[in-house]
Amino acid sequence: ERVIEVRELTKSYGRTVAVDGLSFQVKPGSVTGFLGPNGAGKSTTMRILLGLDAASSGEALINGGRYTGLRRPMYEVGALLDANAVHSGRSAFDHLRCLARSNRIGTRRVAEVLEQVGLAGVARKRVGGFSLGMKQRLGIAAALLGDPGVLMFDEPVNGLDPDGVRWIRELMRSLAAEGRTVLVSSHLMSEMELTADRLVIIGRGRLIADTSVRELADRF
Ligand code: ADP
Ligand code: ADP
Repeated sequence: ERVIEVRELTKSYGRTVAVDGLSFQVKPGSVTGFLGPNGAGKSTTMRILLGLDAASSGEALINGGRYTGLRRPMYEVGALLDANAVHSGRSAFDHLRCLARSNRIGTRRVAEVLEQVGLAGVARKRVGGFSLGMKQRLGIAAALLGDPGVLMFDEPVNGLDPDGVRWIRELMRSLAAEGRTVLVSSHLMSEMELTADRLVIIGRGRLIADTSVRELADRF
């Protein structure tokens, strides 16, 4: 059973090879840490998985098929990509309500996810004034809105304080405990070893290691 499957994936931007023959799989009910330095090709891989960018060659599959619906419906997959990119003159509540409405999700669910990410108290405040940490929480709320079985978080701990980092770690663990599939990227090994069951480590678009955290620890 493989919920996420990347097979011989390659993506070039002009002369830059962002992803170079990458293959890995992610099983349900687990947190997989997608680890590598900045520029390694993590975001590109996630964008292709989410149907937001096209592969040059190879395949990136979710639940056995090519995914093309990040925008709607949000029931199958939820994603947090670049929280910095959230520009909205609206309140957090209105931002999510708009997203919910276009996905035929009720307003009650909006209140629920705002509570879940700890933004209930600032739900009426404008997103434009949010810190990066608050935007990360809002992006996670958007990802959770459709109650999806597959979640992808791209560098979710950026901009968070230690409490926020701990919170995200616990959230990812509980999502996996519910049987969901979580792929989370980071450039920090110290973060991933505390969060992930498995590690997919890449550099320059290529696979360096695909291992469990325990196996890796045994090697040191
Ligand atoms: P990571 O998420 O691991 O930091 P990225 O996937 O963002 O890595 O980037 C991988 C490589 O592809 C980098 O060299 C980056 O500059 C390049 N790249 C990513 N997106 C684009 C794009 N839209 N146009 C040109 N180059 C890109
Ligand atoms: P609006 O009506 O507010 O324009 P959009 O459908 O255009 O709503 O999406 C608003 C924002 O939510 C966009 O930045 C989009 O990338 C993001 N988004 C859409 N679908 C998802 C999803 N499944 N998970 C996370 N963010 C999403």
